[in-house]
Amino acid sequence: MSTFTTFAETKLGKTLKEASNEEIYLSLLDFVKEEASHKEKNTAKRKVYYISAEFLIGKLLSNNLINLGIYKDIKKELEEAGKSISEIEDVELEPSLGNGGLGRLASCFIDSMSTLGINGEGVGLNYHCGLFKQVFKNNQQDAEPNYWIESDSWLVPTDISYDVPFKNFILKSRLDRIDVLGYNRNTKNYLNLFDIEGVDYGLIKDGISFDKTEIKKNLTLFLYPDDSDLNGELLRIYQQYFMVSNAAQLLIDEAIERGSNLHDLAEYAYVQINDTHPSMVIPELIRLLTEKHTISFEEAVSIVEQMIGYTNHTILAEALEKWPLDYLNEVVPHLVLIIEKLNELIKAKYNDSRVQIIDESGRVHMAHMDIHFATSVNGVAALHTDILKNSELKAFYDIYPDKFNNKTNGITFRRWLEFANQDLADYIKELIGDDYLTDATKLEKLLAFADDQSVHQHLSAIKHQNKLALKRYLKDNKGIDLDENSIIDTQIKRFHEYKRQQMNALYVIHKYLDIKKGNLPKRKITVIFGGKAAPAYIIAQDIIHLILCLSELINNDPQVSPYLNVHLVENYNVTVAEHLIPATDISEQISLASKEASGTGNMKFMLNGALTLGTMDGANVEIAELAGRYNIYTFGKDSDTIIDLYANGSYVSRDYYENNELIKEAVDFIVSDDLVSLGNKERLERLYQELINKDWFMTLIDLDEYVAIKEQMLADYEDQEKWMTKVVNNIAKSGFFSSDRTIEQYNDEIWHSN
Ligand SMILES: *Cc1c(COP(=O)(O)O)cnc(C)c1O
Repeated sequence: MSTFTTFAETKLGKTLKEASNEEIYLSLLDFVKEEASHKEKNTAKRKVYYISAEFLIGKLLSNNLINLGIYKDIKKELEEAGKSISEIEDVELEPSLGNGGLGRLASCFIDSMSTLGINGEGVGLNYHCGLFKQVFKNNQQDAEPNYWIESDSWLVPTDISYDVPFKNFILKSRLDRIDVLGYNRNTKNYLNLFDIEGVDYGLIKDGISFDKTEIKKNLTLFLYPDDSDLNGELLRIYQQYFMVSNAAQLLIDEAIERGSNLHDLAEYAYVQINDTHPSMVIPELIRLLTEKHTISFEEAVSIVEQMIGYTNHTILAEALEKWPLDYLNEVVPHLVLIIEKLNELIKAKYNDSRVQIIDESGRVHMAHMDIHFATSVNGVAALHTDILKNSELKAFYDIYPDKFNNKTNGITFRRWLEFANQDLADYIKELIGDDYLTDATKLEKLLAFADDQSVHQHLSAIKHQNKLALKRYLKDNKGIDLDENSIIDTQIKRFHEYKRQQMNALYVIHKYLDIKKGNLPKRKITVIFGGKAAPAYIIAQDIIHLILCLSELINNDPQVSPYLNVHLVENYNVTVAEHLIPATDISEQISLASKEASGTGNMKFMLNGALTLGTMDGANVEIAELAGRYNIYTFGKDSDTIIDLYANGSYVSRDYYENNELIKEAVDFIVSDDLVSLGNKERLERLYQELINKDWFMTLIDLDEYVAIKEQMLADYEDQEKWMTKVVNNIAKSGFFSSDRTIEQYNDEIWHSN
């Protein structure tokens, strides 16, 4: 009998056969925690603190079993006892500590830091109700609290606690940790999740609304609480300061414990700021060093300047945080004193108004503070970094050319291949061995099979099995009936106008009308969407509404549904992604060029044998370079053209609408009787008006080309030899997008932790 069976049967007092899936899950949880507790912490002198408002970690059981190297053994043991590991995985609730790509990236990064044995940890907050749970009612998105913390979970309590001072009170923290094991290592790191003791679910009224003024009871209730009013904005500042003050106190305590005299703090610690939410860590570290530890202001600044890196994730102006000084004074007046001093330092050095920390209207530009006091400023894909240097942050690049660098995002192949697509992983091992597990570029050995018909057939068969598995998952969990014999065309990501789900919806309308006219596709197409829209983002909600109405109309139309289906999967999260991606044929990456910083969904699909249908944006550009432009499908205006159009304000959506019959017909259908009878007239009308009168993210500019290239792609699919050759090329070249590569670069070029 193996160690796990013995462990579980001893703990449960019954055989595995007799135990329920819940009991087995809890035994596995304890078993893995026990294994983890025997691992040593990584110890390099300089420790990396990756501070992030989000960690979209996904379920942890299977990932931990894979990293421990015992997944297959446990699976077999369970099978022998008549149990299914995937049913046991279903018992686990997915943690809700993140929102989208940025949070998923942070999670891939902590996995890779552990895998590489780097002394690096995540620091964030433990949001009890997460972002929100998306439910559809009347073809619209509704939001509910996403309770995910159970009495037995991956959280390991500690007795670490700090006092965090706010203007009118002090709030005590508590720290829970999650072990981050890394693949095949005998060391580990932590994800540190700070929390308060007094969280009160009773504050929540209907949906996800709650009393935003009760900071001592609500600080860690929700991720990104609604900030459309003043109290919401203040709460976000409370959260951010609470996160970074705890991080800074932890970092200083740990450095002292490991021998630092604080004058040498930068040799002991490096802070990576993931987007601007953790920016207040800069003044907070200076405050602690000067007020608690008797270091002079000048020296404190020079210490902190050596230990900060800033990662920019977006060029969307509205996403770059600027906090009014008045608000900061309401919450953290002691920090404002420091920020003002830093502002004076910069003002004395540079009289360019574009680079000031505090602007004429008294707003603090968090990114500006980051850039001035960081050793490194990085973008997340080559194109994105170029845009930062040459336009968005040009004034800073002129001052600090050496600080700017690129770190193209990556994903962990343990979760997105080994776990999510086990049949493909096994087959790859059969073909080229398993050294790609520690060096993903070894996948290039697959190029030798690019034209091999038996390999093509094998890959097709795996894709079909994955479609069947997806069909079961969608039926059991989402009330969706998937046709496994159709081409699966998937767009899963947060809903945002720049990502242009509305353009895909217009394609769907076009296709629907075309089928109605009698142009029947050779093969059925299933268009799948998934994603949440921020509750305050009206147009994104309208786009969701349009897709849900289309789904109802099309799937119930006996004339069309044999050829076209549309589904919007409720509550998109990591678990949903793990099922959808391996079953997908067409990966929709259709953002308006220059707007998607990198994307990581695009990488997951490439690795899993879907072909990209994308604009030359974010990391799509690098996918095209690596796989070869011929092996993916690109379309649309390039980023230079788009940046110029914004600069001279010359895009007029109505011109596209009026001058192109296909576009007009598709857009008009949004307010047709057919759709309005299924939905909410106000929403559909608003979206229609938005598209023809404003269309800030230029949906219509690329629609024509998009429809054409998608038709080309569907035609090419019929030549499976050609298609599969492209698939093999994509998988073979995806190794570059391993987050192990990304993290190695962060460490070699920015962190220097060893
Ligand atoms: C990868 C991932 C994302 C990011 O997707 P993009 O297409 O890069 O925006 C968002 N959410 C989840 C659950 C993911 O797994």
